[in-house]
Amino acid sequence: MSHTQPVDGTVDVVVVGAGFAGMYMVHRMRQAGRSVICFEGGTDVGGTWYWNRYPGCRCDVESLEYSYDFDADLQQDWVWTEKYATQPEILRYAQHVADRFDLRRDIRFSTRVTDAVFDEGAGRWTVTTDDGATTSAQFVVMATGCLSSANMPDIPGRDSFQGELAHTGRYPKDGIDFTGKRVGIVGTGSSGIQAIPVIARTAGHLTVFQRTAQFTIPARNGPLDPAEQAEVKANYAEIVAANKRMFGAFGSRYQRPLRVATETDPAEFRAEMEYLWERGGSLFLSSFRDLMRTPEANQLAADFVREKIRETVTDPETAARLTPDGLIGCKRLVIDTDYFETYNRPNVSLVDISAKGTPITEVTPTGIRCGDTVHELDVLIFATGFDAMTGSLLRVDIRGRDGRRLTDSWEAGPVTYLGLNVNGFPNLFTITGPGSPSVLANMIVGTEQHVEWIAQCLDYMAAHGHDTIEAEPEAVDEWVAHVNAVADRTIFPSCNSWYVGANIPGKPRVFMPLLGFPAYVDKCNEVASTDYPGFTFGRAREAAAV
Ligand code: FAD
Ligand code: NAP
Repeated sequence: MSHTQPVDGTVDVVVVGAGFAGMYMVHRMRQAGRSVICFEGGTDVGGTWYWNRYPGCRCDVESLEYSYDFDADLQQDWVWTEKYATQPEILRYAQHVADRFDLRRDIRFSTRVTDAVFDEGAGRWTVTTDDGATTSAQFVVMATGCLSSANMPDIPGRDSFQGELAHTGRYPKDGIDFTGKRVGIVGTGSSGIQAIPVIARTAGHLTVFQRTAQFTIPARNGPLDPAEQAEVKANYAEIVAANKRMFGAFGSRYQRPLRVATETDPAEFRAEMEYLWERGGSLFLSSFRDLMRTPEANQLAADFVREKIRETVTDPETAARLTPDGLIGCKRLVIDTDYFETYNRPNVSLVDISAKGTPITEVTPTGIRCGDTVHELDVLIFATGFDAMTGSLLRVDIRGRDGRRLTDSWEAGPVTYLGLNVNGFPNLFTITGPGSPSVLANMIVGTEQHVEWIAQCLDYMAAHGHDTIEAEPEAVDEWVAHVNAVADRTIFPSCNSWYVGANIPGKPRVFMPLLGFPAYVDKCNEVASTDYPGFTFGRAREAAAV
């Protein structure tokens, strides 16, 4: 394997972030013989799985499919222990990959990138880090993660809380001991719903502050059967190839014949939903092609889950508060273990903080006030999500051609070509960026596809004597229109989800990811094999003048 160490702060490629995306980018660049340096704000690799150490955290794409495909030996050697791996196990996997490919020597930990400025004359980026150092790079790859900027709500009095306070996405490494304590948790998305049943097991009392009830489907997690693991490993190449033809790049082993819900006999529809409920997991909505296309079909599945909630939760008032209105899967579908059952425990209570209930007025030194009631707490957990998809990109002061700021280019929402590059920002790539399938597909598969596309593009540029690559404005406009048109054929844009930025006050409302992995990959491959239409290649001005 060829590899060049960065010299004097000058490299071919700067990678920002050492989650699964940044780690593979470093490895792939080394393989291509490019010098690379990666900056990571955390003290180790793993990204999501480094920061989200809250109790109950695990993946909800099966472990055997939520893992790298780029190295067959790695794929065969690593042994997963559960159907859905826990955060510690996934972090160990990331650390194993870092050890195995000796990645850490090109990663600077505890180092955040603050600025990246493009010098048009040199055709290079100057990247500044929070230690004051600068690095010059021809290319910058933003592997900063879609769900890595924690959203800590600005509730009056928040900083006055005297007990222990944490956000699930910035959870303390030493954990929190809940034994016998009065614990409050704000937020019932995927993170809250994973944490609540586990915290409830040891807390003295757990109070859940719920703004919006969520649809969640049982995971049916369990130990991974060694025979199943061996079988998958024997057929990995076929399974991965089949997954890549799946809408969300996972689950080909489970795909059922596709039907139309509104044309299916109600008894048959119900039998299929029962089957899917018992099987559990993220493919719950995948048997009927119209569930995510028409509200009428979607309501059939939503009603089915509402019924399950009423069957599970014994107190009818609590059940009613836990029952979501609206459409299922329109916000990210949640996958849980014993979530609704947890509300049958005597030490768990649910507070409705929606506009219909008693919204949070303030955090006090000893708890949370909702109207006239103060809920006294020893520990307060915020499971309030992330400034998704754009948050970590826009927290870096990125300035492209003519000093143009990314924050200005994206003032009305993110605009990209293929989710890979932005007009005005030559040689800057985003991995799983807005406008790519990103959070709507198995993210390790999406990451690998992006890393490989970028690596191939850099080879092409070198072979053709190009110094710079930049998306053309028309290509960006067409791509953004395409992303919206695809979304508009579905129910997705209709909900106040983080997919449209609705969870962050003031964020422009734009549906950010692209639906459909296979068609996207076909498009990327077509672009790469036809001399990159929609991109302009150039020479650095200084190089051209010589
Ligand atoms: P991340 O893992 O987010 O890594 C980005 C890294 O960049 C972070 O370590 C961050 O510190 C660093 N960084 C950001 N900005 C800077 C900066 N300015 N300077 C230096 N460093 C910086 N996806 C799935 O497909 N299946 C799942 O089951 C699944 N489960 C999830 C569970 C949780 C709790 C969460 C939060 C997300 C989950 N996801 C899942 C999505 C998950 O984020 C991706 O699967 C994947 O881990 C993302 O990898 P990444 O490298 O792109 O980003
Ligand atoms: P989330 O889905 O955005 O949920 C945040 C929760 O906090 C929501 O219930 C939200 O209520 C509430 N909230 C936000 N701001 C609030 C405020 N100011 N006051 C009161 N409540 C507030 O975030 P998340 O649960 O961290 O999940 C984010 C994404 O990460 C997931 O959708 C998923 O993609 C990924 N993830 C995956 C897994 C997994 O199982 N593999 C686990 C965790 C996370 P509203 O609904 O009313 O806004």
